[in-house]
Amino acid sequence: MTQTVTVLGATGSIGTSTLDVIARHPDRYRLHAVTARSSRQALFELCRHHRPEVAVLDHAEDARWLAEALTRADVPTRVAHGEAALCEVAASAEIVMSAIVGAAALTPTLAAVRAGRRVLLANKEALVMSGALFMREVAESGAVLLPIDSEHNAIFQCLPHHHRGGLERCGVTRLLLTASGGPFRQWAPEQLAQVTPDQACAHPNWSMGRKISVDSATMMNKGLELIEACWLFDASPEQVEIVVHPQSVIHSMAAYVDGSVIAQLGNPDMRTPIGHGLAWPERIDTGVAPLDLFATGRLDFEAPDMARFPCLRLAREAMSTGGTAPAALNAANEVAVAAFLAERIPFMAIPTLVERVLARLEHGPADSLECILAMDRRAREVATAELERREQNG
Ligand code: NAD
Ligand code: MG
Repeated sequence: MTQTVTVLGATGSIGTSTLDVIARHPDRYRLHAVTARSSRQALFELCRHHRPEVAVLDHAEDARWLAEALTRADVPTRVAHGEAALCEVAASAEIVMSAIVGAAALTPTLAAVRAGRRVLLANKEALVMSGALFMREVAESGAVLLPIDSEHNAIFQCLPHHHRGGLERCGVTRLLLTASGGPFRQWAPEQLAQVTPDQACAHPNWSMGRKISVDSATMMNKGLELIEACWLFDASPEQVEIVVHPQSVIHSMAAYVDGSVIAQLGNPDMRTPIGHGLAWPERIDTGVAPLDLFATGRLDFEAPDMARFPCLRLAREAMSTGGTAPAALNAANEVAVAAFLAERIPFMAIPTLVERVLARLEHGPADSLECILAMDRRAREVATAELERREQNG
């Protein structure tokens, strides 16, 4: 029996890797829908090649363009646009890959969760923003939530099948979250002041979208992943240890009370966790090359440098404040990263801006989607005002 799949964010790095794995298994998977924000030409090529039933873009004008192009090319894909259409395709396939970048993934991913789907969670921002609410919705709907972020997918593979209900119950004492350290792991603070967007996006091990590449360079990515791990595995922040491992061959580990440490290894290629999520509890070929340990040679480990990477501290603080603080952290970071990519602020202004925004906001409980989205908007306003103030002061 084939299963239907919707890929949210199909034109991105995770989206195209997902389509690559799906195309290897036409006997197992049938593409229901693909979505993108505005890259209509790329979405057109995907539709021509993969022939989904539906394609969704953000704006009506792009959707009209795509519909005409598809008609001319004799491709029968139906075209829709806007958030309601996004939520509809998210709720109507058996498997949903959540690979939109940023807070924009929250509403459609929750739509998939509420429909009780198998949700492959690559996007981390949605869970960071809405942790408790998101996990409650998963429990209530019976959705099957499978982590795709490579570290969390690794931890999932290192835990016993039935790990819900707390780590202690299955004898796990710590989760060891590995980090490559990004492209600037060994750079001096003076050098960090000069970093350009292209340098920040040139990750040594992984090829990824620009936003997550900058997050890896500031290590905010690891901060967001710490919060993600706490929610996914019902862990306290103290139970999650960050271990810098520059080769990115061990994708993360679980430490047990008897002294065992279980690790998941592989080449740094997102098709491994994607294939794992698609087929779980079975295993399928993903096209990933076998790991050559002799070529790898060695595995190194270091403690993270908290002084050089203040984003790690900011994320830990937001998680211990709780409530709407992680949503504010995420929103401020999205604004700061966009400003850095647009060359409006230097690299080291990213953590400074995030810290200023967090200090200016009051945090309360995050018990409804409305209050989470309200904090997201408010933090973006404050961050934008901070940026303008910075520019006015020269
Ligand atoms: P990307 O920038 O390559 O692709 C993003 C996709 O989302 C595109 O299809 C884009 O059209 C769509 N999109 C962007 N903004 C949108 C909006 N406002 N509304 C609707 N669609 C929108 O990003 P990526 O690197 O593939 O990352 C996607 C997500 O997966 C991120 O949350 C990232 O943190 C996470 N992730 C990525 C990797 C990786 O290796 N790339 C690894 C782990 C986790
Ligand atoms: Mg990751």
